[in-house]
Amino acid sequence: MASKGEAACQKCINPDCAAEFDCSQTLVKCPKCGELLDIVYDWNKANPPEHISHFARRWAGRDNRLDFSGVWRFRELLNFCPDDHKVSIGEGQTILQQNDDLAAELGMQPGCLHLQYEGLNPSGSFKDNGMTAAFSHARLVGATASACASTGNTSASMALYAHACGLKCTVFIGSGRIAFGKLSQAMDFGGHTIQIRGDFDDCMRQVQDVCTRLNIYLVNSVNPFRLEGQKTIMFRIVEQLGWRVPDWVIVPGGNLGNSSAFGKAFAELKSLGLIDRIPRLAVINAQGARTLADLYNDHNLRWNDGRVDQSVIDAYYADLTAKNFSPHTCASAIEISRPVNLKKCLRALDVCNGVVLAVPDEEIVDAKALVGRYGLGCEPASAATVAGLRHMLGNGTIEPEETVACVLTGHQLKDPNVTVTYHKDNMGPFSNPPVEAPNDLESIIRLMQ
Ligand SMILES: *Cc1c(COP(=O)(O)O)cnc(C)c1O
Ligand SMILES: [Zn+2]
Repeated sequence: MASKGEAACQKCINPDCAAEFDCSQTLVKCPKCGELLDIVYDWNKANPPEHISHFARRWAGRDNRLDFSGVWRFRELLNFCPDDHKVSIGEGQTILQQNDDLAAELGMQPGCLHLQYEGLNPSGSFKDNGMTAAFSHARLVGATASACASTGNTSASMALYAHACGLKCTVFIGSGRIAFGKLSQAMDFGGHTIQIRGDFDDCMRQVQDVCTRLNIYLVNSVNPFRLEGQKTIMFRIVEQLGWRVPDWVIVPGGNLGNSSAFGKAFAELKSLGLIDRIPRLAVINAQGARTLADLYNDHNLRWNDGRVDQSVIDAYYADLTAKNFSPHTCASAIEISRPVNLKKCLRALDVCNGVVLAVPDEEIVDAKALVGRYGLGCEPASAATVAGLRHMLGNGTIEPEETVACVLTGHQLKDPNVTVTYHKDNMGPFSNPPVEAPNDLESIIRLMQ
């Protein structure tokens, strides 16, 4: 593998194909069998450190742009392109917030609950971790134009990085399915936006064909380089826990890129001997977009050493098509019914002894209000993790003294409409609406009591 002395190559995840391609090629699926591609490393050439704590030394290095990046600080673990091609705008400066107040509210022991707030990224979501890697690869291959289908955050992140590297970019969105806080970013950053009459899954299908026809660089999470950047979210969690691995990582599941990346991160850390055990992974769907939960829990679909039963997936999707099904949830970032990384996610669930759960929107918005009250706030999709955690504590899947890291994928201000509606319209037990007062001092004073 890894021809010409390179440390990395692209490899088909189908074990019966396992074709390899070097990183100078732009591919979003295996040209031989159509399956997803992985980035695999020749670790002797990639040169990872002997101890994972080695990376901590770079943390203070603000004068080196790669050390300063919360992604590229770990560059030996995603060693697919030379340093001079790497793009960085300060992504990954995110924190793991130990949150004992929320833990108490959920009945957990102090010190056990941590919230990894990825809203602190330059465009306000975890997508920047992936985009910095994808655009570094785009520069490596000399791409001049990029595109994505988006529920919002991918477009904001793409537009920001495209702007930073001087690439053109086009965003494909479904009509009425995007939070305007997110779209406003893409428009502000100069992204060319095309609104398709359809949902995210329709956009995803169209953009793949558009990119192939017009030779445009696709930055959705079918792009295997994106997932390499997203591995670093897990590296940072381990780092912030003092190089210890949590018992559980909980992540919302949309297109399943993040969950896939997390499983790969832990598999690689373990195989390199940099960690001694792998945490369990919980992937949370919204009930109105529950493809993974259905396939994993009800149809028992498994990774099966790479031989996933495609007929189960085909039958499930045929049924969605027959019902003319379109996913619906207030958590727009996970309103996806045909997740492109499904198989890689099944692999992650296999590696991490994972569980999958679907939670209703009412629980998502309540959990979001709790994160707002006790923590740094987040967007609806991110709060699905806390809603899922509550269920898993309730049914004993997670014990109150286990350490848990919930990945809060996006910033609180991404989708203010959901928040305002929740509070103003008294939609749940944590609603906190404004109180109306007449324009009169004594009346106002009375309301202050
Ligand atoms: C993209 C996104 C998700 C879904 O992540 P996948 O990797 O597609 O499963 C969840 N939350 C937010 C805020 C997102 O932007
Ligand atoms: Zn293949």
